[in-house]
Amino acid sequence: MWKCDYEDSALKIFSSHSCFTHHASLVLRFWQHFRISLYAMLQFKREGIYCTPGNFYIDPWRPVDAAIITHGHSDHARPGMKKYLCHHSTVPVLKARLGSEINVQGIAYNQPLSLNGVKISLHPAGHIIGSAQIRMEYKGRVVVASGDYKTQDDGLSTPFESVRCHEFISESTFGLPIYNWLPVAQQNEQLRNWVLQNQSQGKTSVFVGYSLGKAQRIMKALEGMGQLNVHYSIGKLNRAYESAGILLPAYTELDLREDVKKIDQSIVIVPPSLLDSNIIRKIPNMANALCSGWMQVRGARRWRSADAGFAISDHADWNGLLQAIKNTGAEKIYITHGQTAVFSKYLRELALDAEEVKTEFGTEDETVEQNTNAVAE
Ligand SMILES: [Zn+2]
Ligand SMILES: [Zn+2]
Repeated sequence: MWKCDYEDSALKIFSSHSCFTHHASLVLRFWQHFRISLYAMLQFKREGIYCTPGNFYIDPWRPVDAAIITHGHSDHARPGMKKYLCHHSTVPVLKARLGSEINVQGIAYNQPLSLNGVKISLHPAGHIIGSAQIRMEYKGRVVVASGDYKTQDDGLSTPFESVRCHEFISESTFGLPIYNWLPVAQQNEQLRNWVLQNQSQGKTSVFVGYSLGKAQRIMKALEGMGQLNVHYSIGKLNRAYESAGILLPAYTELDLREDVKKIDQSIVIVPPSLLDSNIIRKIPNMANALCSGWMQVRGARRWRSADAGFAISDHADWNGLLQAIKNTGAEKIYITHGQTAVFSKYLRELALDAEEVKTEFGTEDETVEQNTNAVAE
């Protein structure tokens, strides 16, 4: 398990920097093959984002010994790591997705520990359950890797906390000025009004939303409006919420291949993978709605195939990204996924030292929907 290095010297096995010659040859290799950040606190390696003095990775996309995980979406929490460290509430999500046998340790927000001399702490990212920004401090220099984040308080995730740092690693999924979310209370009201409208016409309301994060927000918004039915893939993740102590409204789990006749004028929530399937079409007298940040763009092909679209996202919108970055006071910003080229260029125009870096994030949740649209348009 992960322990503070002053508690457990075994962690020092991670560190291979004791011998100067070995260190020098490693440094040479890194220069040849990888980008090295200005102050060498971070490297963007083939396996993922690497903290050099700490000898661990953040959300690595290839198997490594020690991985700190920002949140449970599958492009940030991948299988095959020897050790995982994450927020307490992310532990049941990782176990549900990667298997209960993984070696994982959970810690609280703002609970510092030290790994190979690097002081580490997790801070709320406001993205989904347990999502955390990783703050790393070494010899007075502070780097924050934010994973995915949103600055709006969705009422379920611990609200985003701004952390001052020298270097900030940011996503940019919705890093274009067209993306501006309504306040959460108004988003929820839109959902409820749409359900009321369907109920007055005797229709079943079918919501399509990502199974980790979005589905639970939809459930919460519709609490008390009628029977909530969720696809069993969502039910599996709901149990992770419940075991983390987060209360969700009462719901029924459905296998839509078998239970479709049980649905009548109720509310159904399904993951995006079912959108174009016959399974949804078999639901009698239904209206369907997509809940995604991409719904802000009316031309999205998938929006046209649905009866309604609601711009609800677990990522920061344009102003949220800019404000979050400004509040860090960072002198160096790395943009990892989303609208990386445009967004980093915009930051440079604001006289910020911003750089686009290549990662393998953005293969789950709303980024996938963007890619699907790009192909379809
Ligand atoms: Zn995510
Ligand atoms: Zn992401």
